[in-house]
Amino acid sequence: MKKIQMVDLKGQYEGIKDVVNPSIQNVIENTAFINGPQVHEFQKNLETYLGVKHVIPCANGTDALQIAMMGLGLKPGDEVITADFTFAATVEVIALLGLTPVLVDVNEDDFNINIEAVKNAITPKTKAIVPVHLFGQCADMEAILAIAKEHNLFVIEDNAQAIGANYTDKNGNKTKAGTMADVGATSFFPSKNLGCYGDGGAIFTNDDDLAHTIRGIVNHGMYERYHHDVVGVNSRLDSIQAAVLDAKLPKLDAYNNARRAAARKYNAAFASEENIITPKTVNGCEGICDTCDCHVFHQYTLKIKNADRDALVKHLNENGIPCGVYYPIPLHKQKAYADDRYNEADFEVTNQLVKEVISLPMHTELDDEQIEFITQTIINFIHG
Ligand SMILES: *Cc1c(COP(=O)(O)O)cnc(C)c1O
Repeated sequence: MKKIQMVDLKGQYEGIKDVVNPSIQNVIENTAFINGPQVHEFQKNLETYLGVKHVIPCANGTDALQIAMMGLGLKPGDEVITADFTFAATVEVIALLGLTPVLVDVNEDDFNINIEAVKNAITPKTKAIVPVHLFGQCADMEAILAIAKEHNLFVIEDNAQAIGANYTDKNGNKTKAGTMADVGATSFFPSKNLGCYGDGGAIFTNDDDLAHTIRGIVNHGMYERYHHDVVGVNSRLDSIQAAVLDAKLPKLDAYNNARRAAARKYNAAFASEENIITPKTVNGCEGICDTCDCHVFHQYTLKIKNADRDALVKHLNENGIPCGVYYPIPLHKQKAYADDRYNEADFEVTNQLVKEVISLPMHTELDDEQIEFITQTIINFIHG
């Protein structure tokens, strides 16, 4: 059996070497390392793929979130609602900008931000909601956009984990994750579904004025050379990274299909296990459908009931199976983000999830033998 990896970047590279190597070489030969033609080309191709008017590349996903918030003109003291169960980057940029993070609980079944909790958190100071499309599946965007409209709030989608996923609304219309709200932010960190060979990120919007504002912010607040109209940042996607991404973009749907195929096999193996809860697909999708790309499985995350999750992690590692706990600590309990305003009773779901979740190896190169070994090792442990 091939060595099992959490993410198999080398295996994926072997399949695209013939395209990626000359693309990288081309950047080096032409020495246009910054703002080379590859950046613009990738931007255009991603706009087409996503069906969004503007893609603004930047240096990483954390910057993308920060710049999106700067572009919307959010000011210190403004309250921004986001999920308690996400990667820290989401809340970090809110705090860095002097905005007030308001963490709320998530759903037990899809791990995404809970709509009732969002509603309850709205105050006269609330200015924005940041849904995170966690593990590769969209939050309930129809409900979130309706709340935002009613209360005149901005919505910023953290799409770092769901690039290529579709959201299906109640009328059956499909829209790509990250393109539904005022602005979306994504990451091209190597292990993301569309990853480069270093750091990278992008901001998406259909709003022409906001796109213009953001293009200036990423470039030192410059709209005319050496005229600095607003305080900006320096956040660029390297030409080499753009070349890698442009070579990988045509493969994204196939990559996401491969992830879904692996997820389906995991689900089948655990189907009769009552203490192993497989990930639920929502937004009108039963099971893992082939046709709508509703879930792109950035992570395949189980909930383990009536067993010691941490002992399972240890057991898997001892058997050469890497796994992850995303996330082990609720953000409202992290030293940097703890606050007297928070009430433990409001985080019942997150407090429980952090004890139960385990993410299994998930990538484009998993084979049946590996999946069989992983699932059997888990089942044997649970039946211990
Ligand atoms: C990866 C990630 C980010 C940050 O992306 P970087 O490119 O690492 O800065 C932000 N939010 C979520 C949910 C992520 O998973």
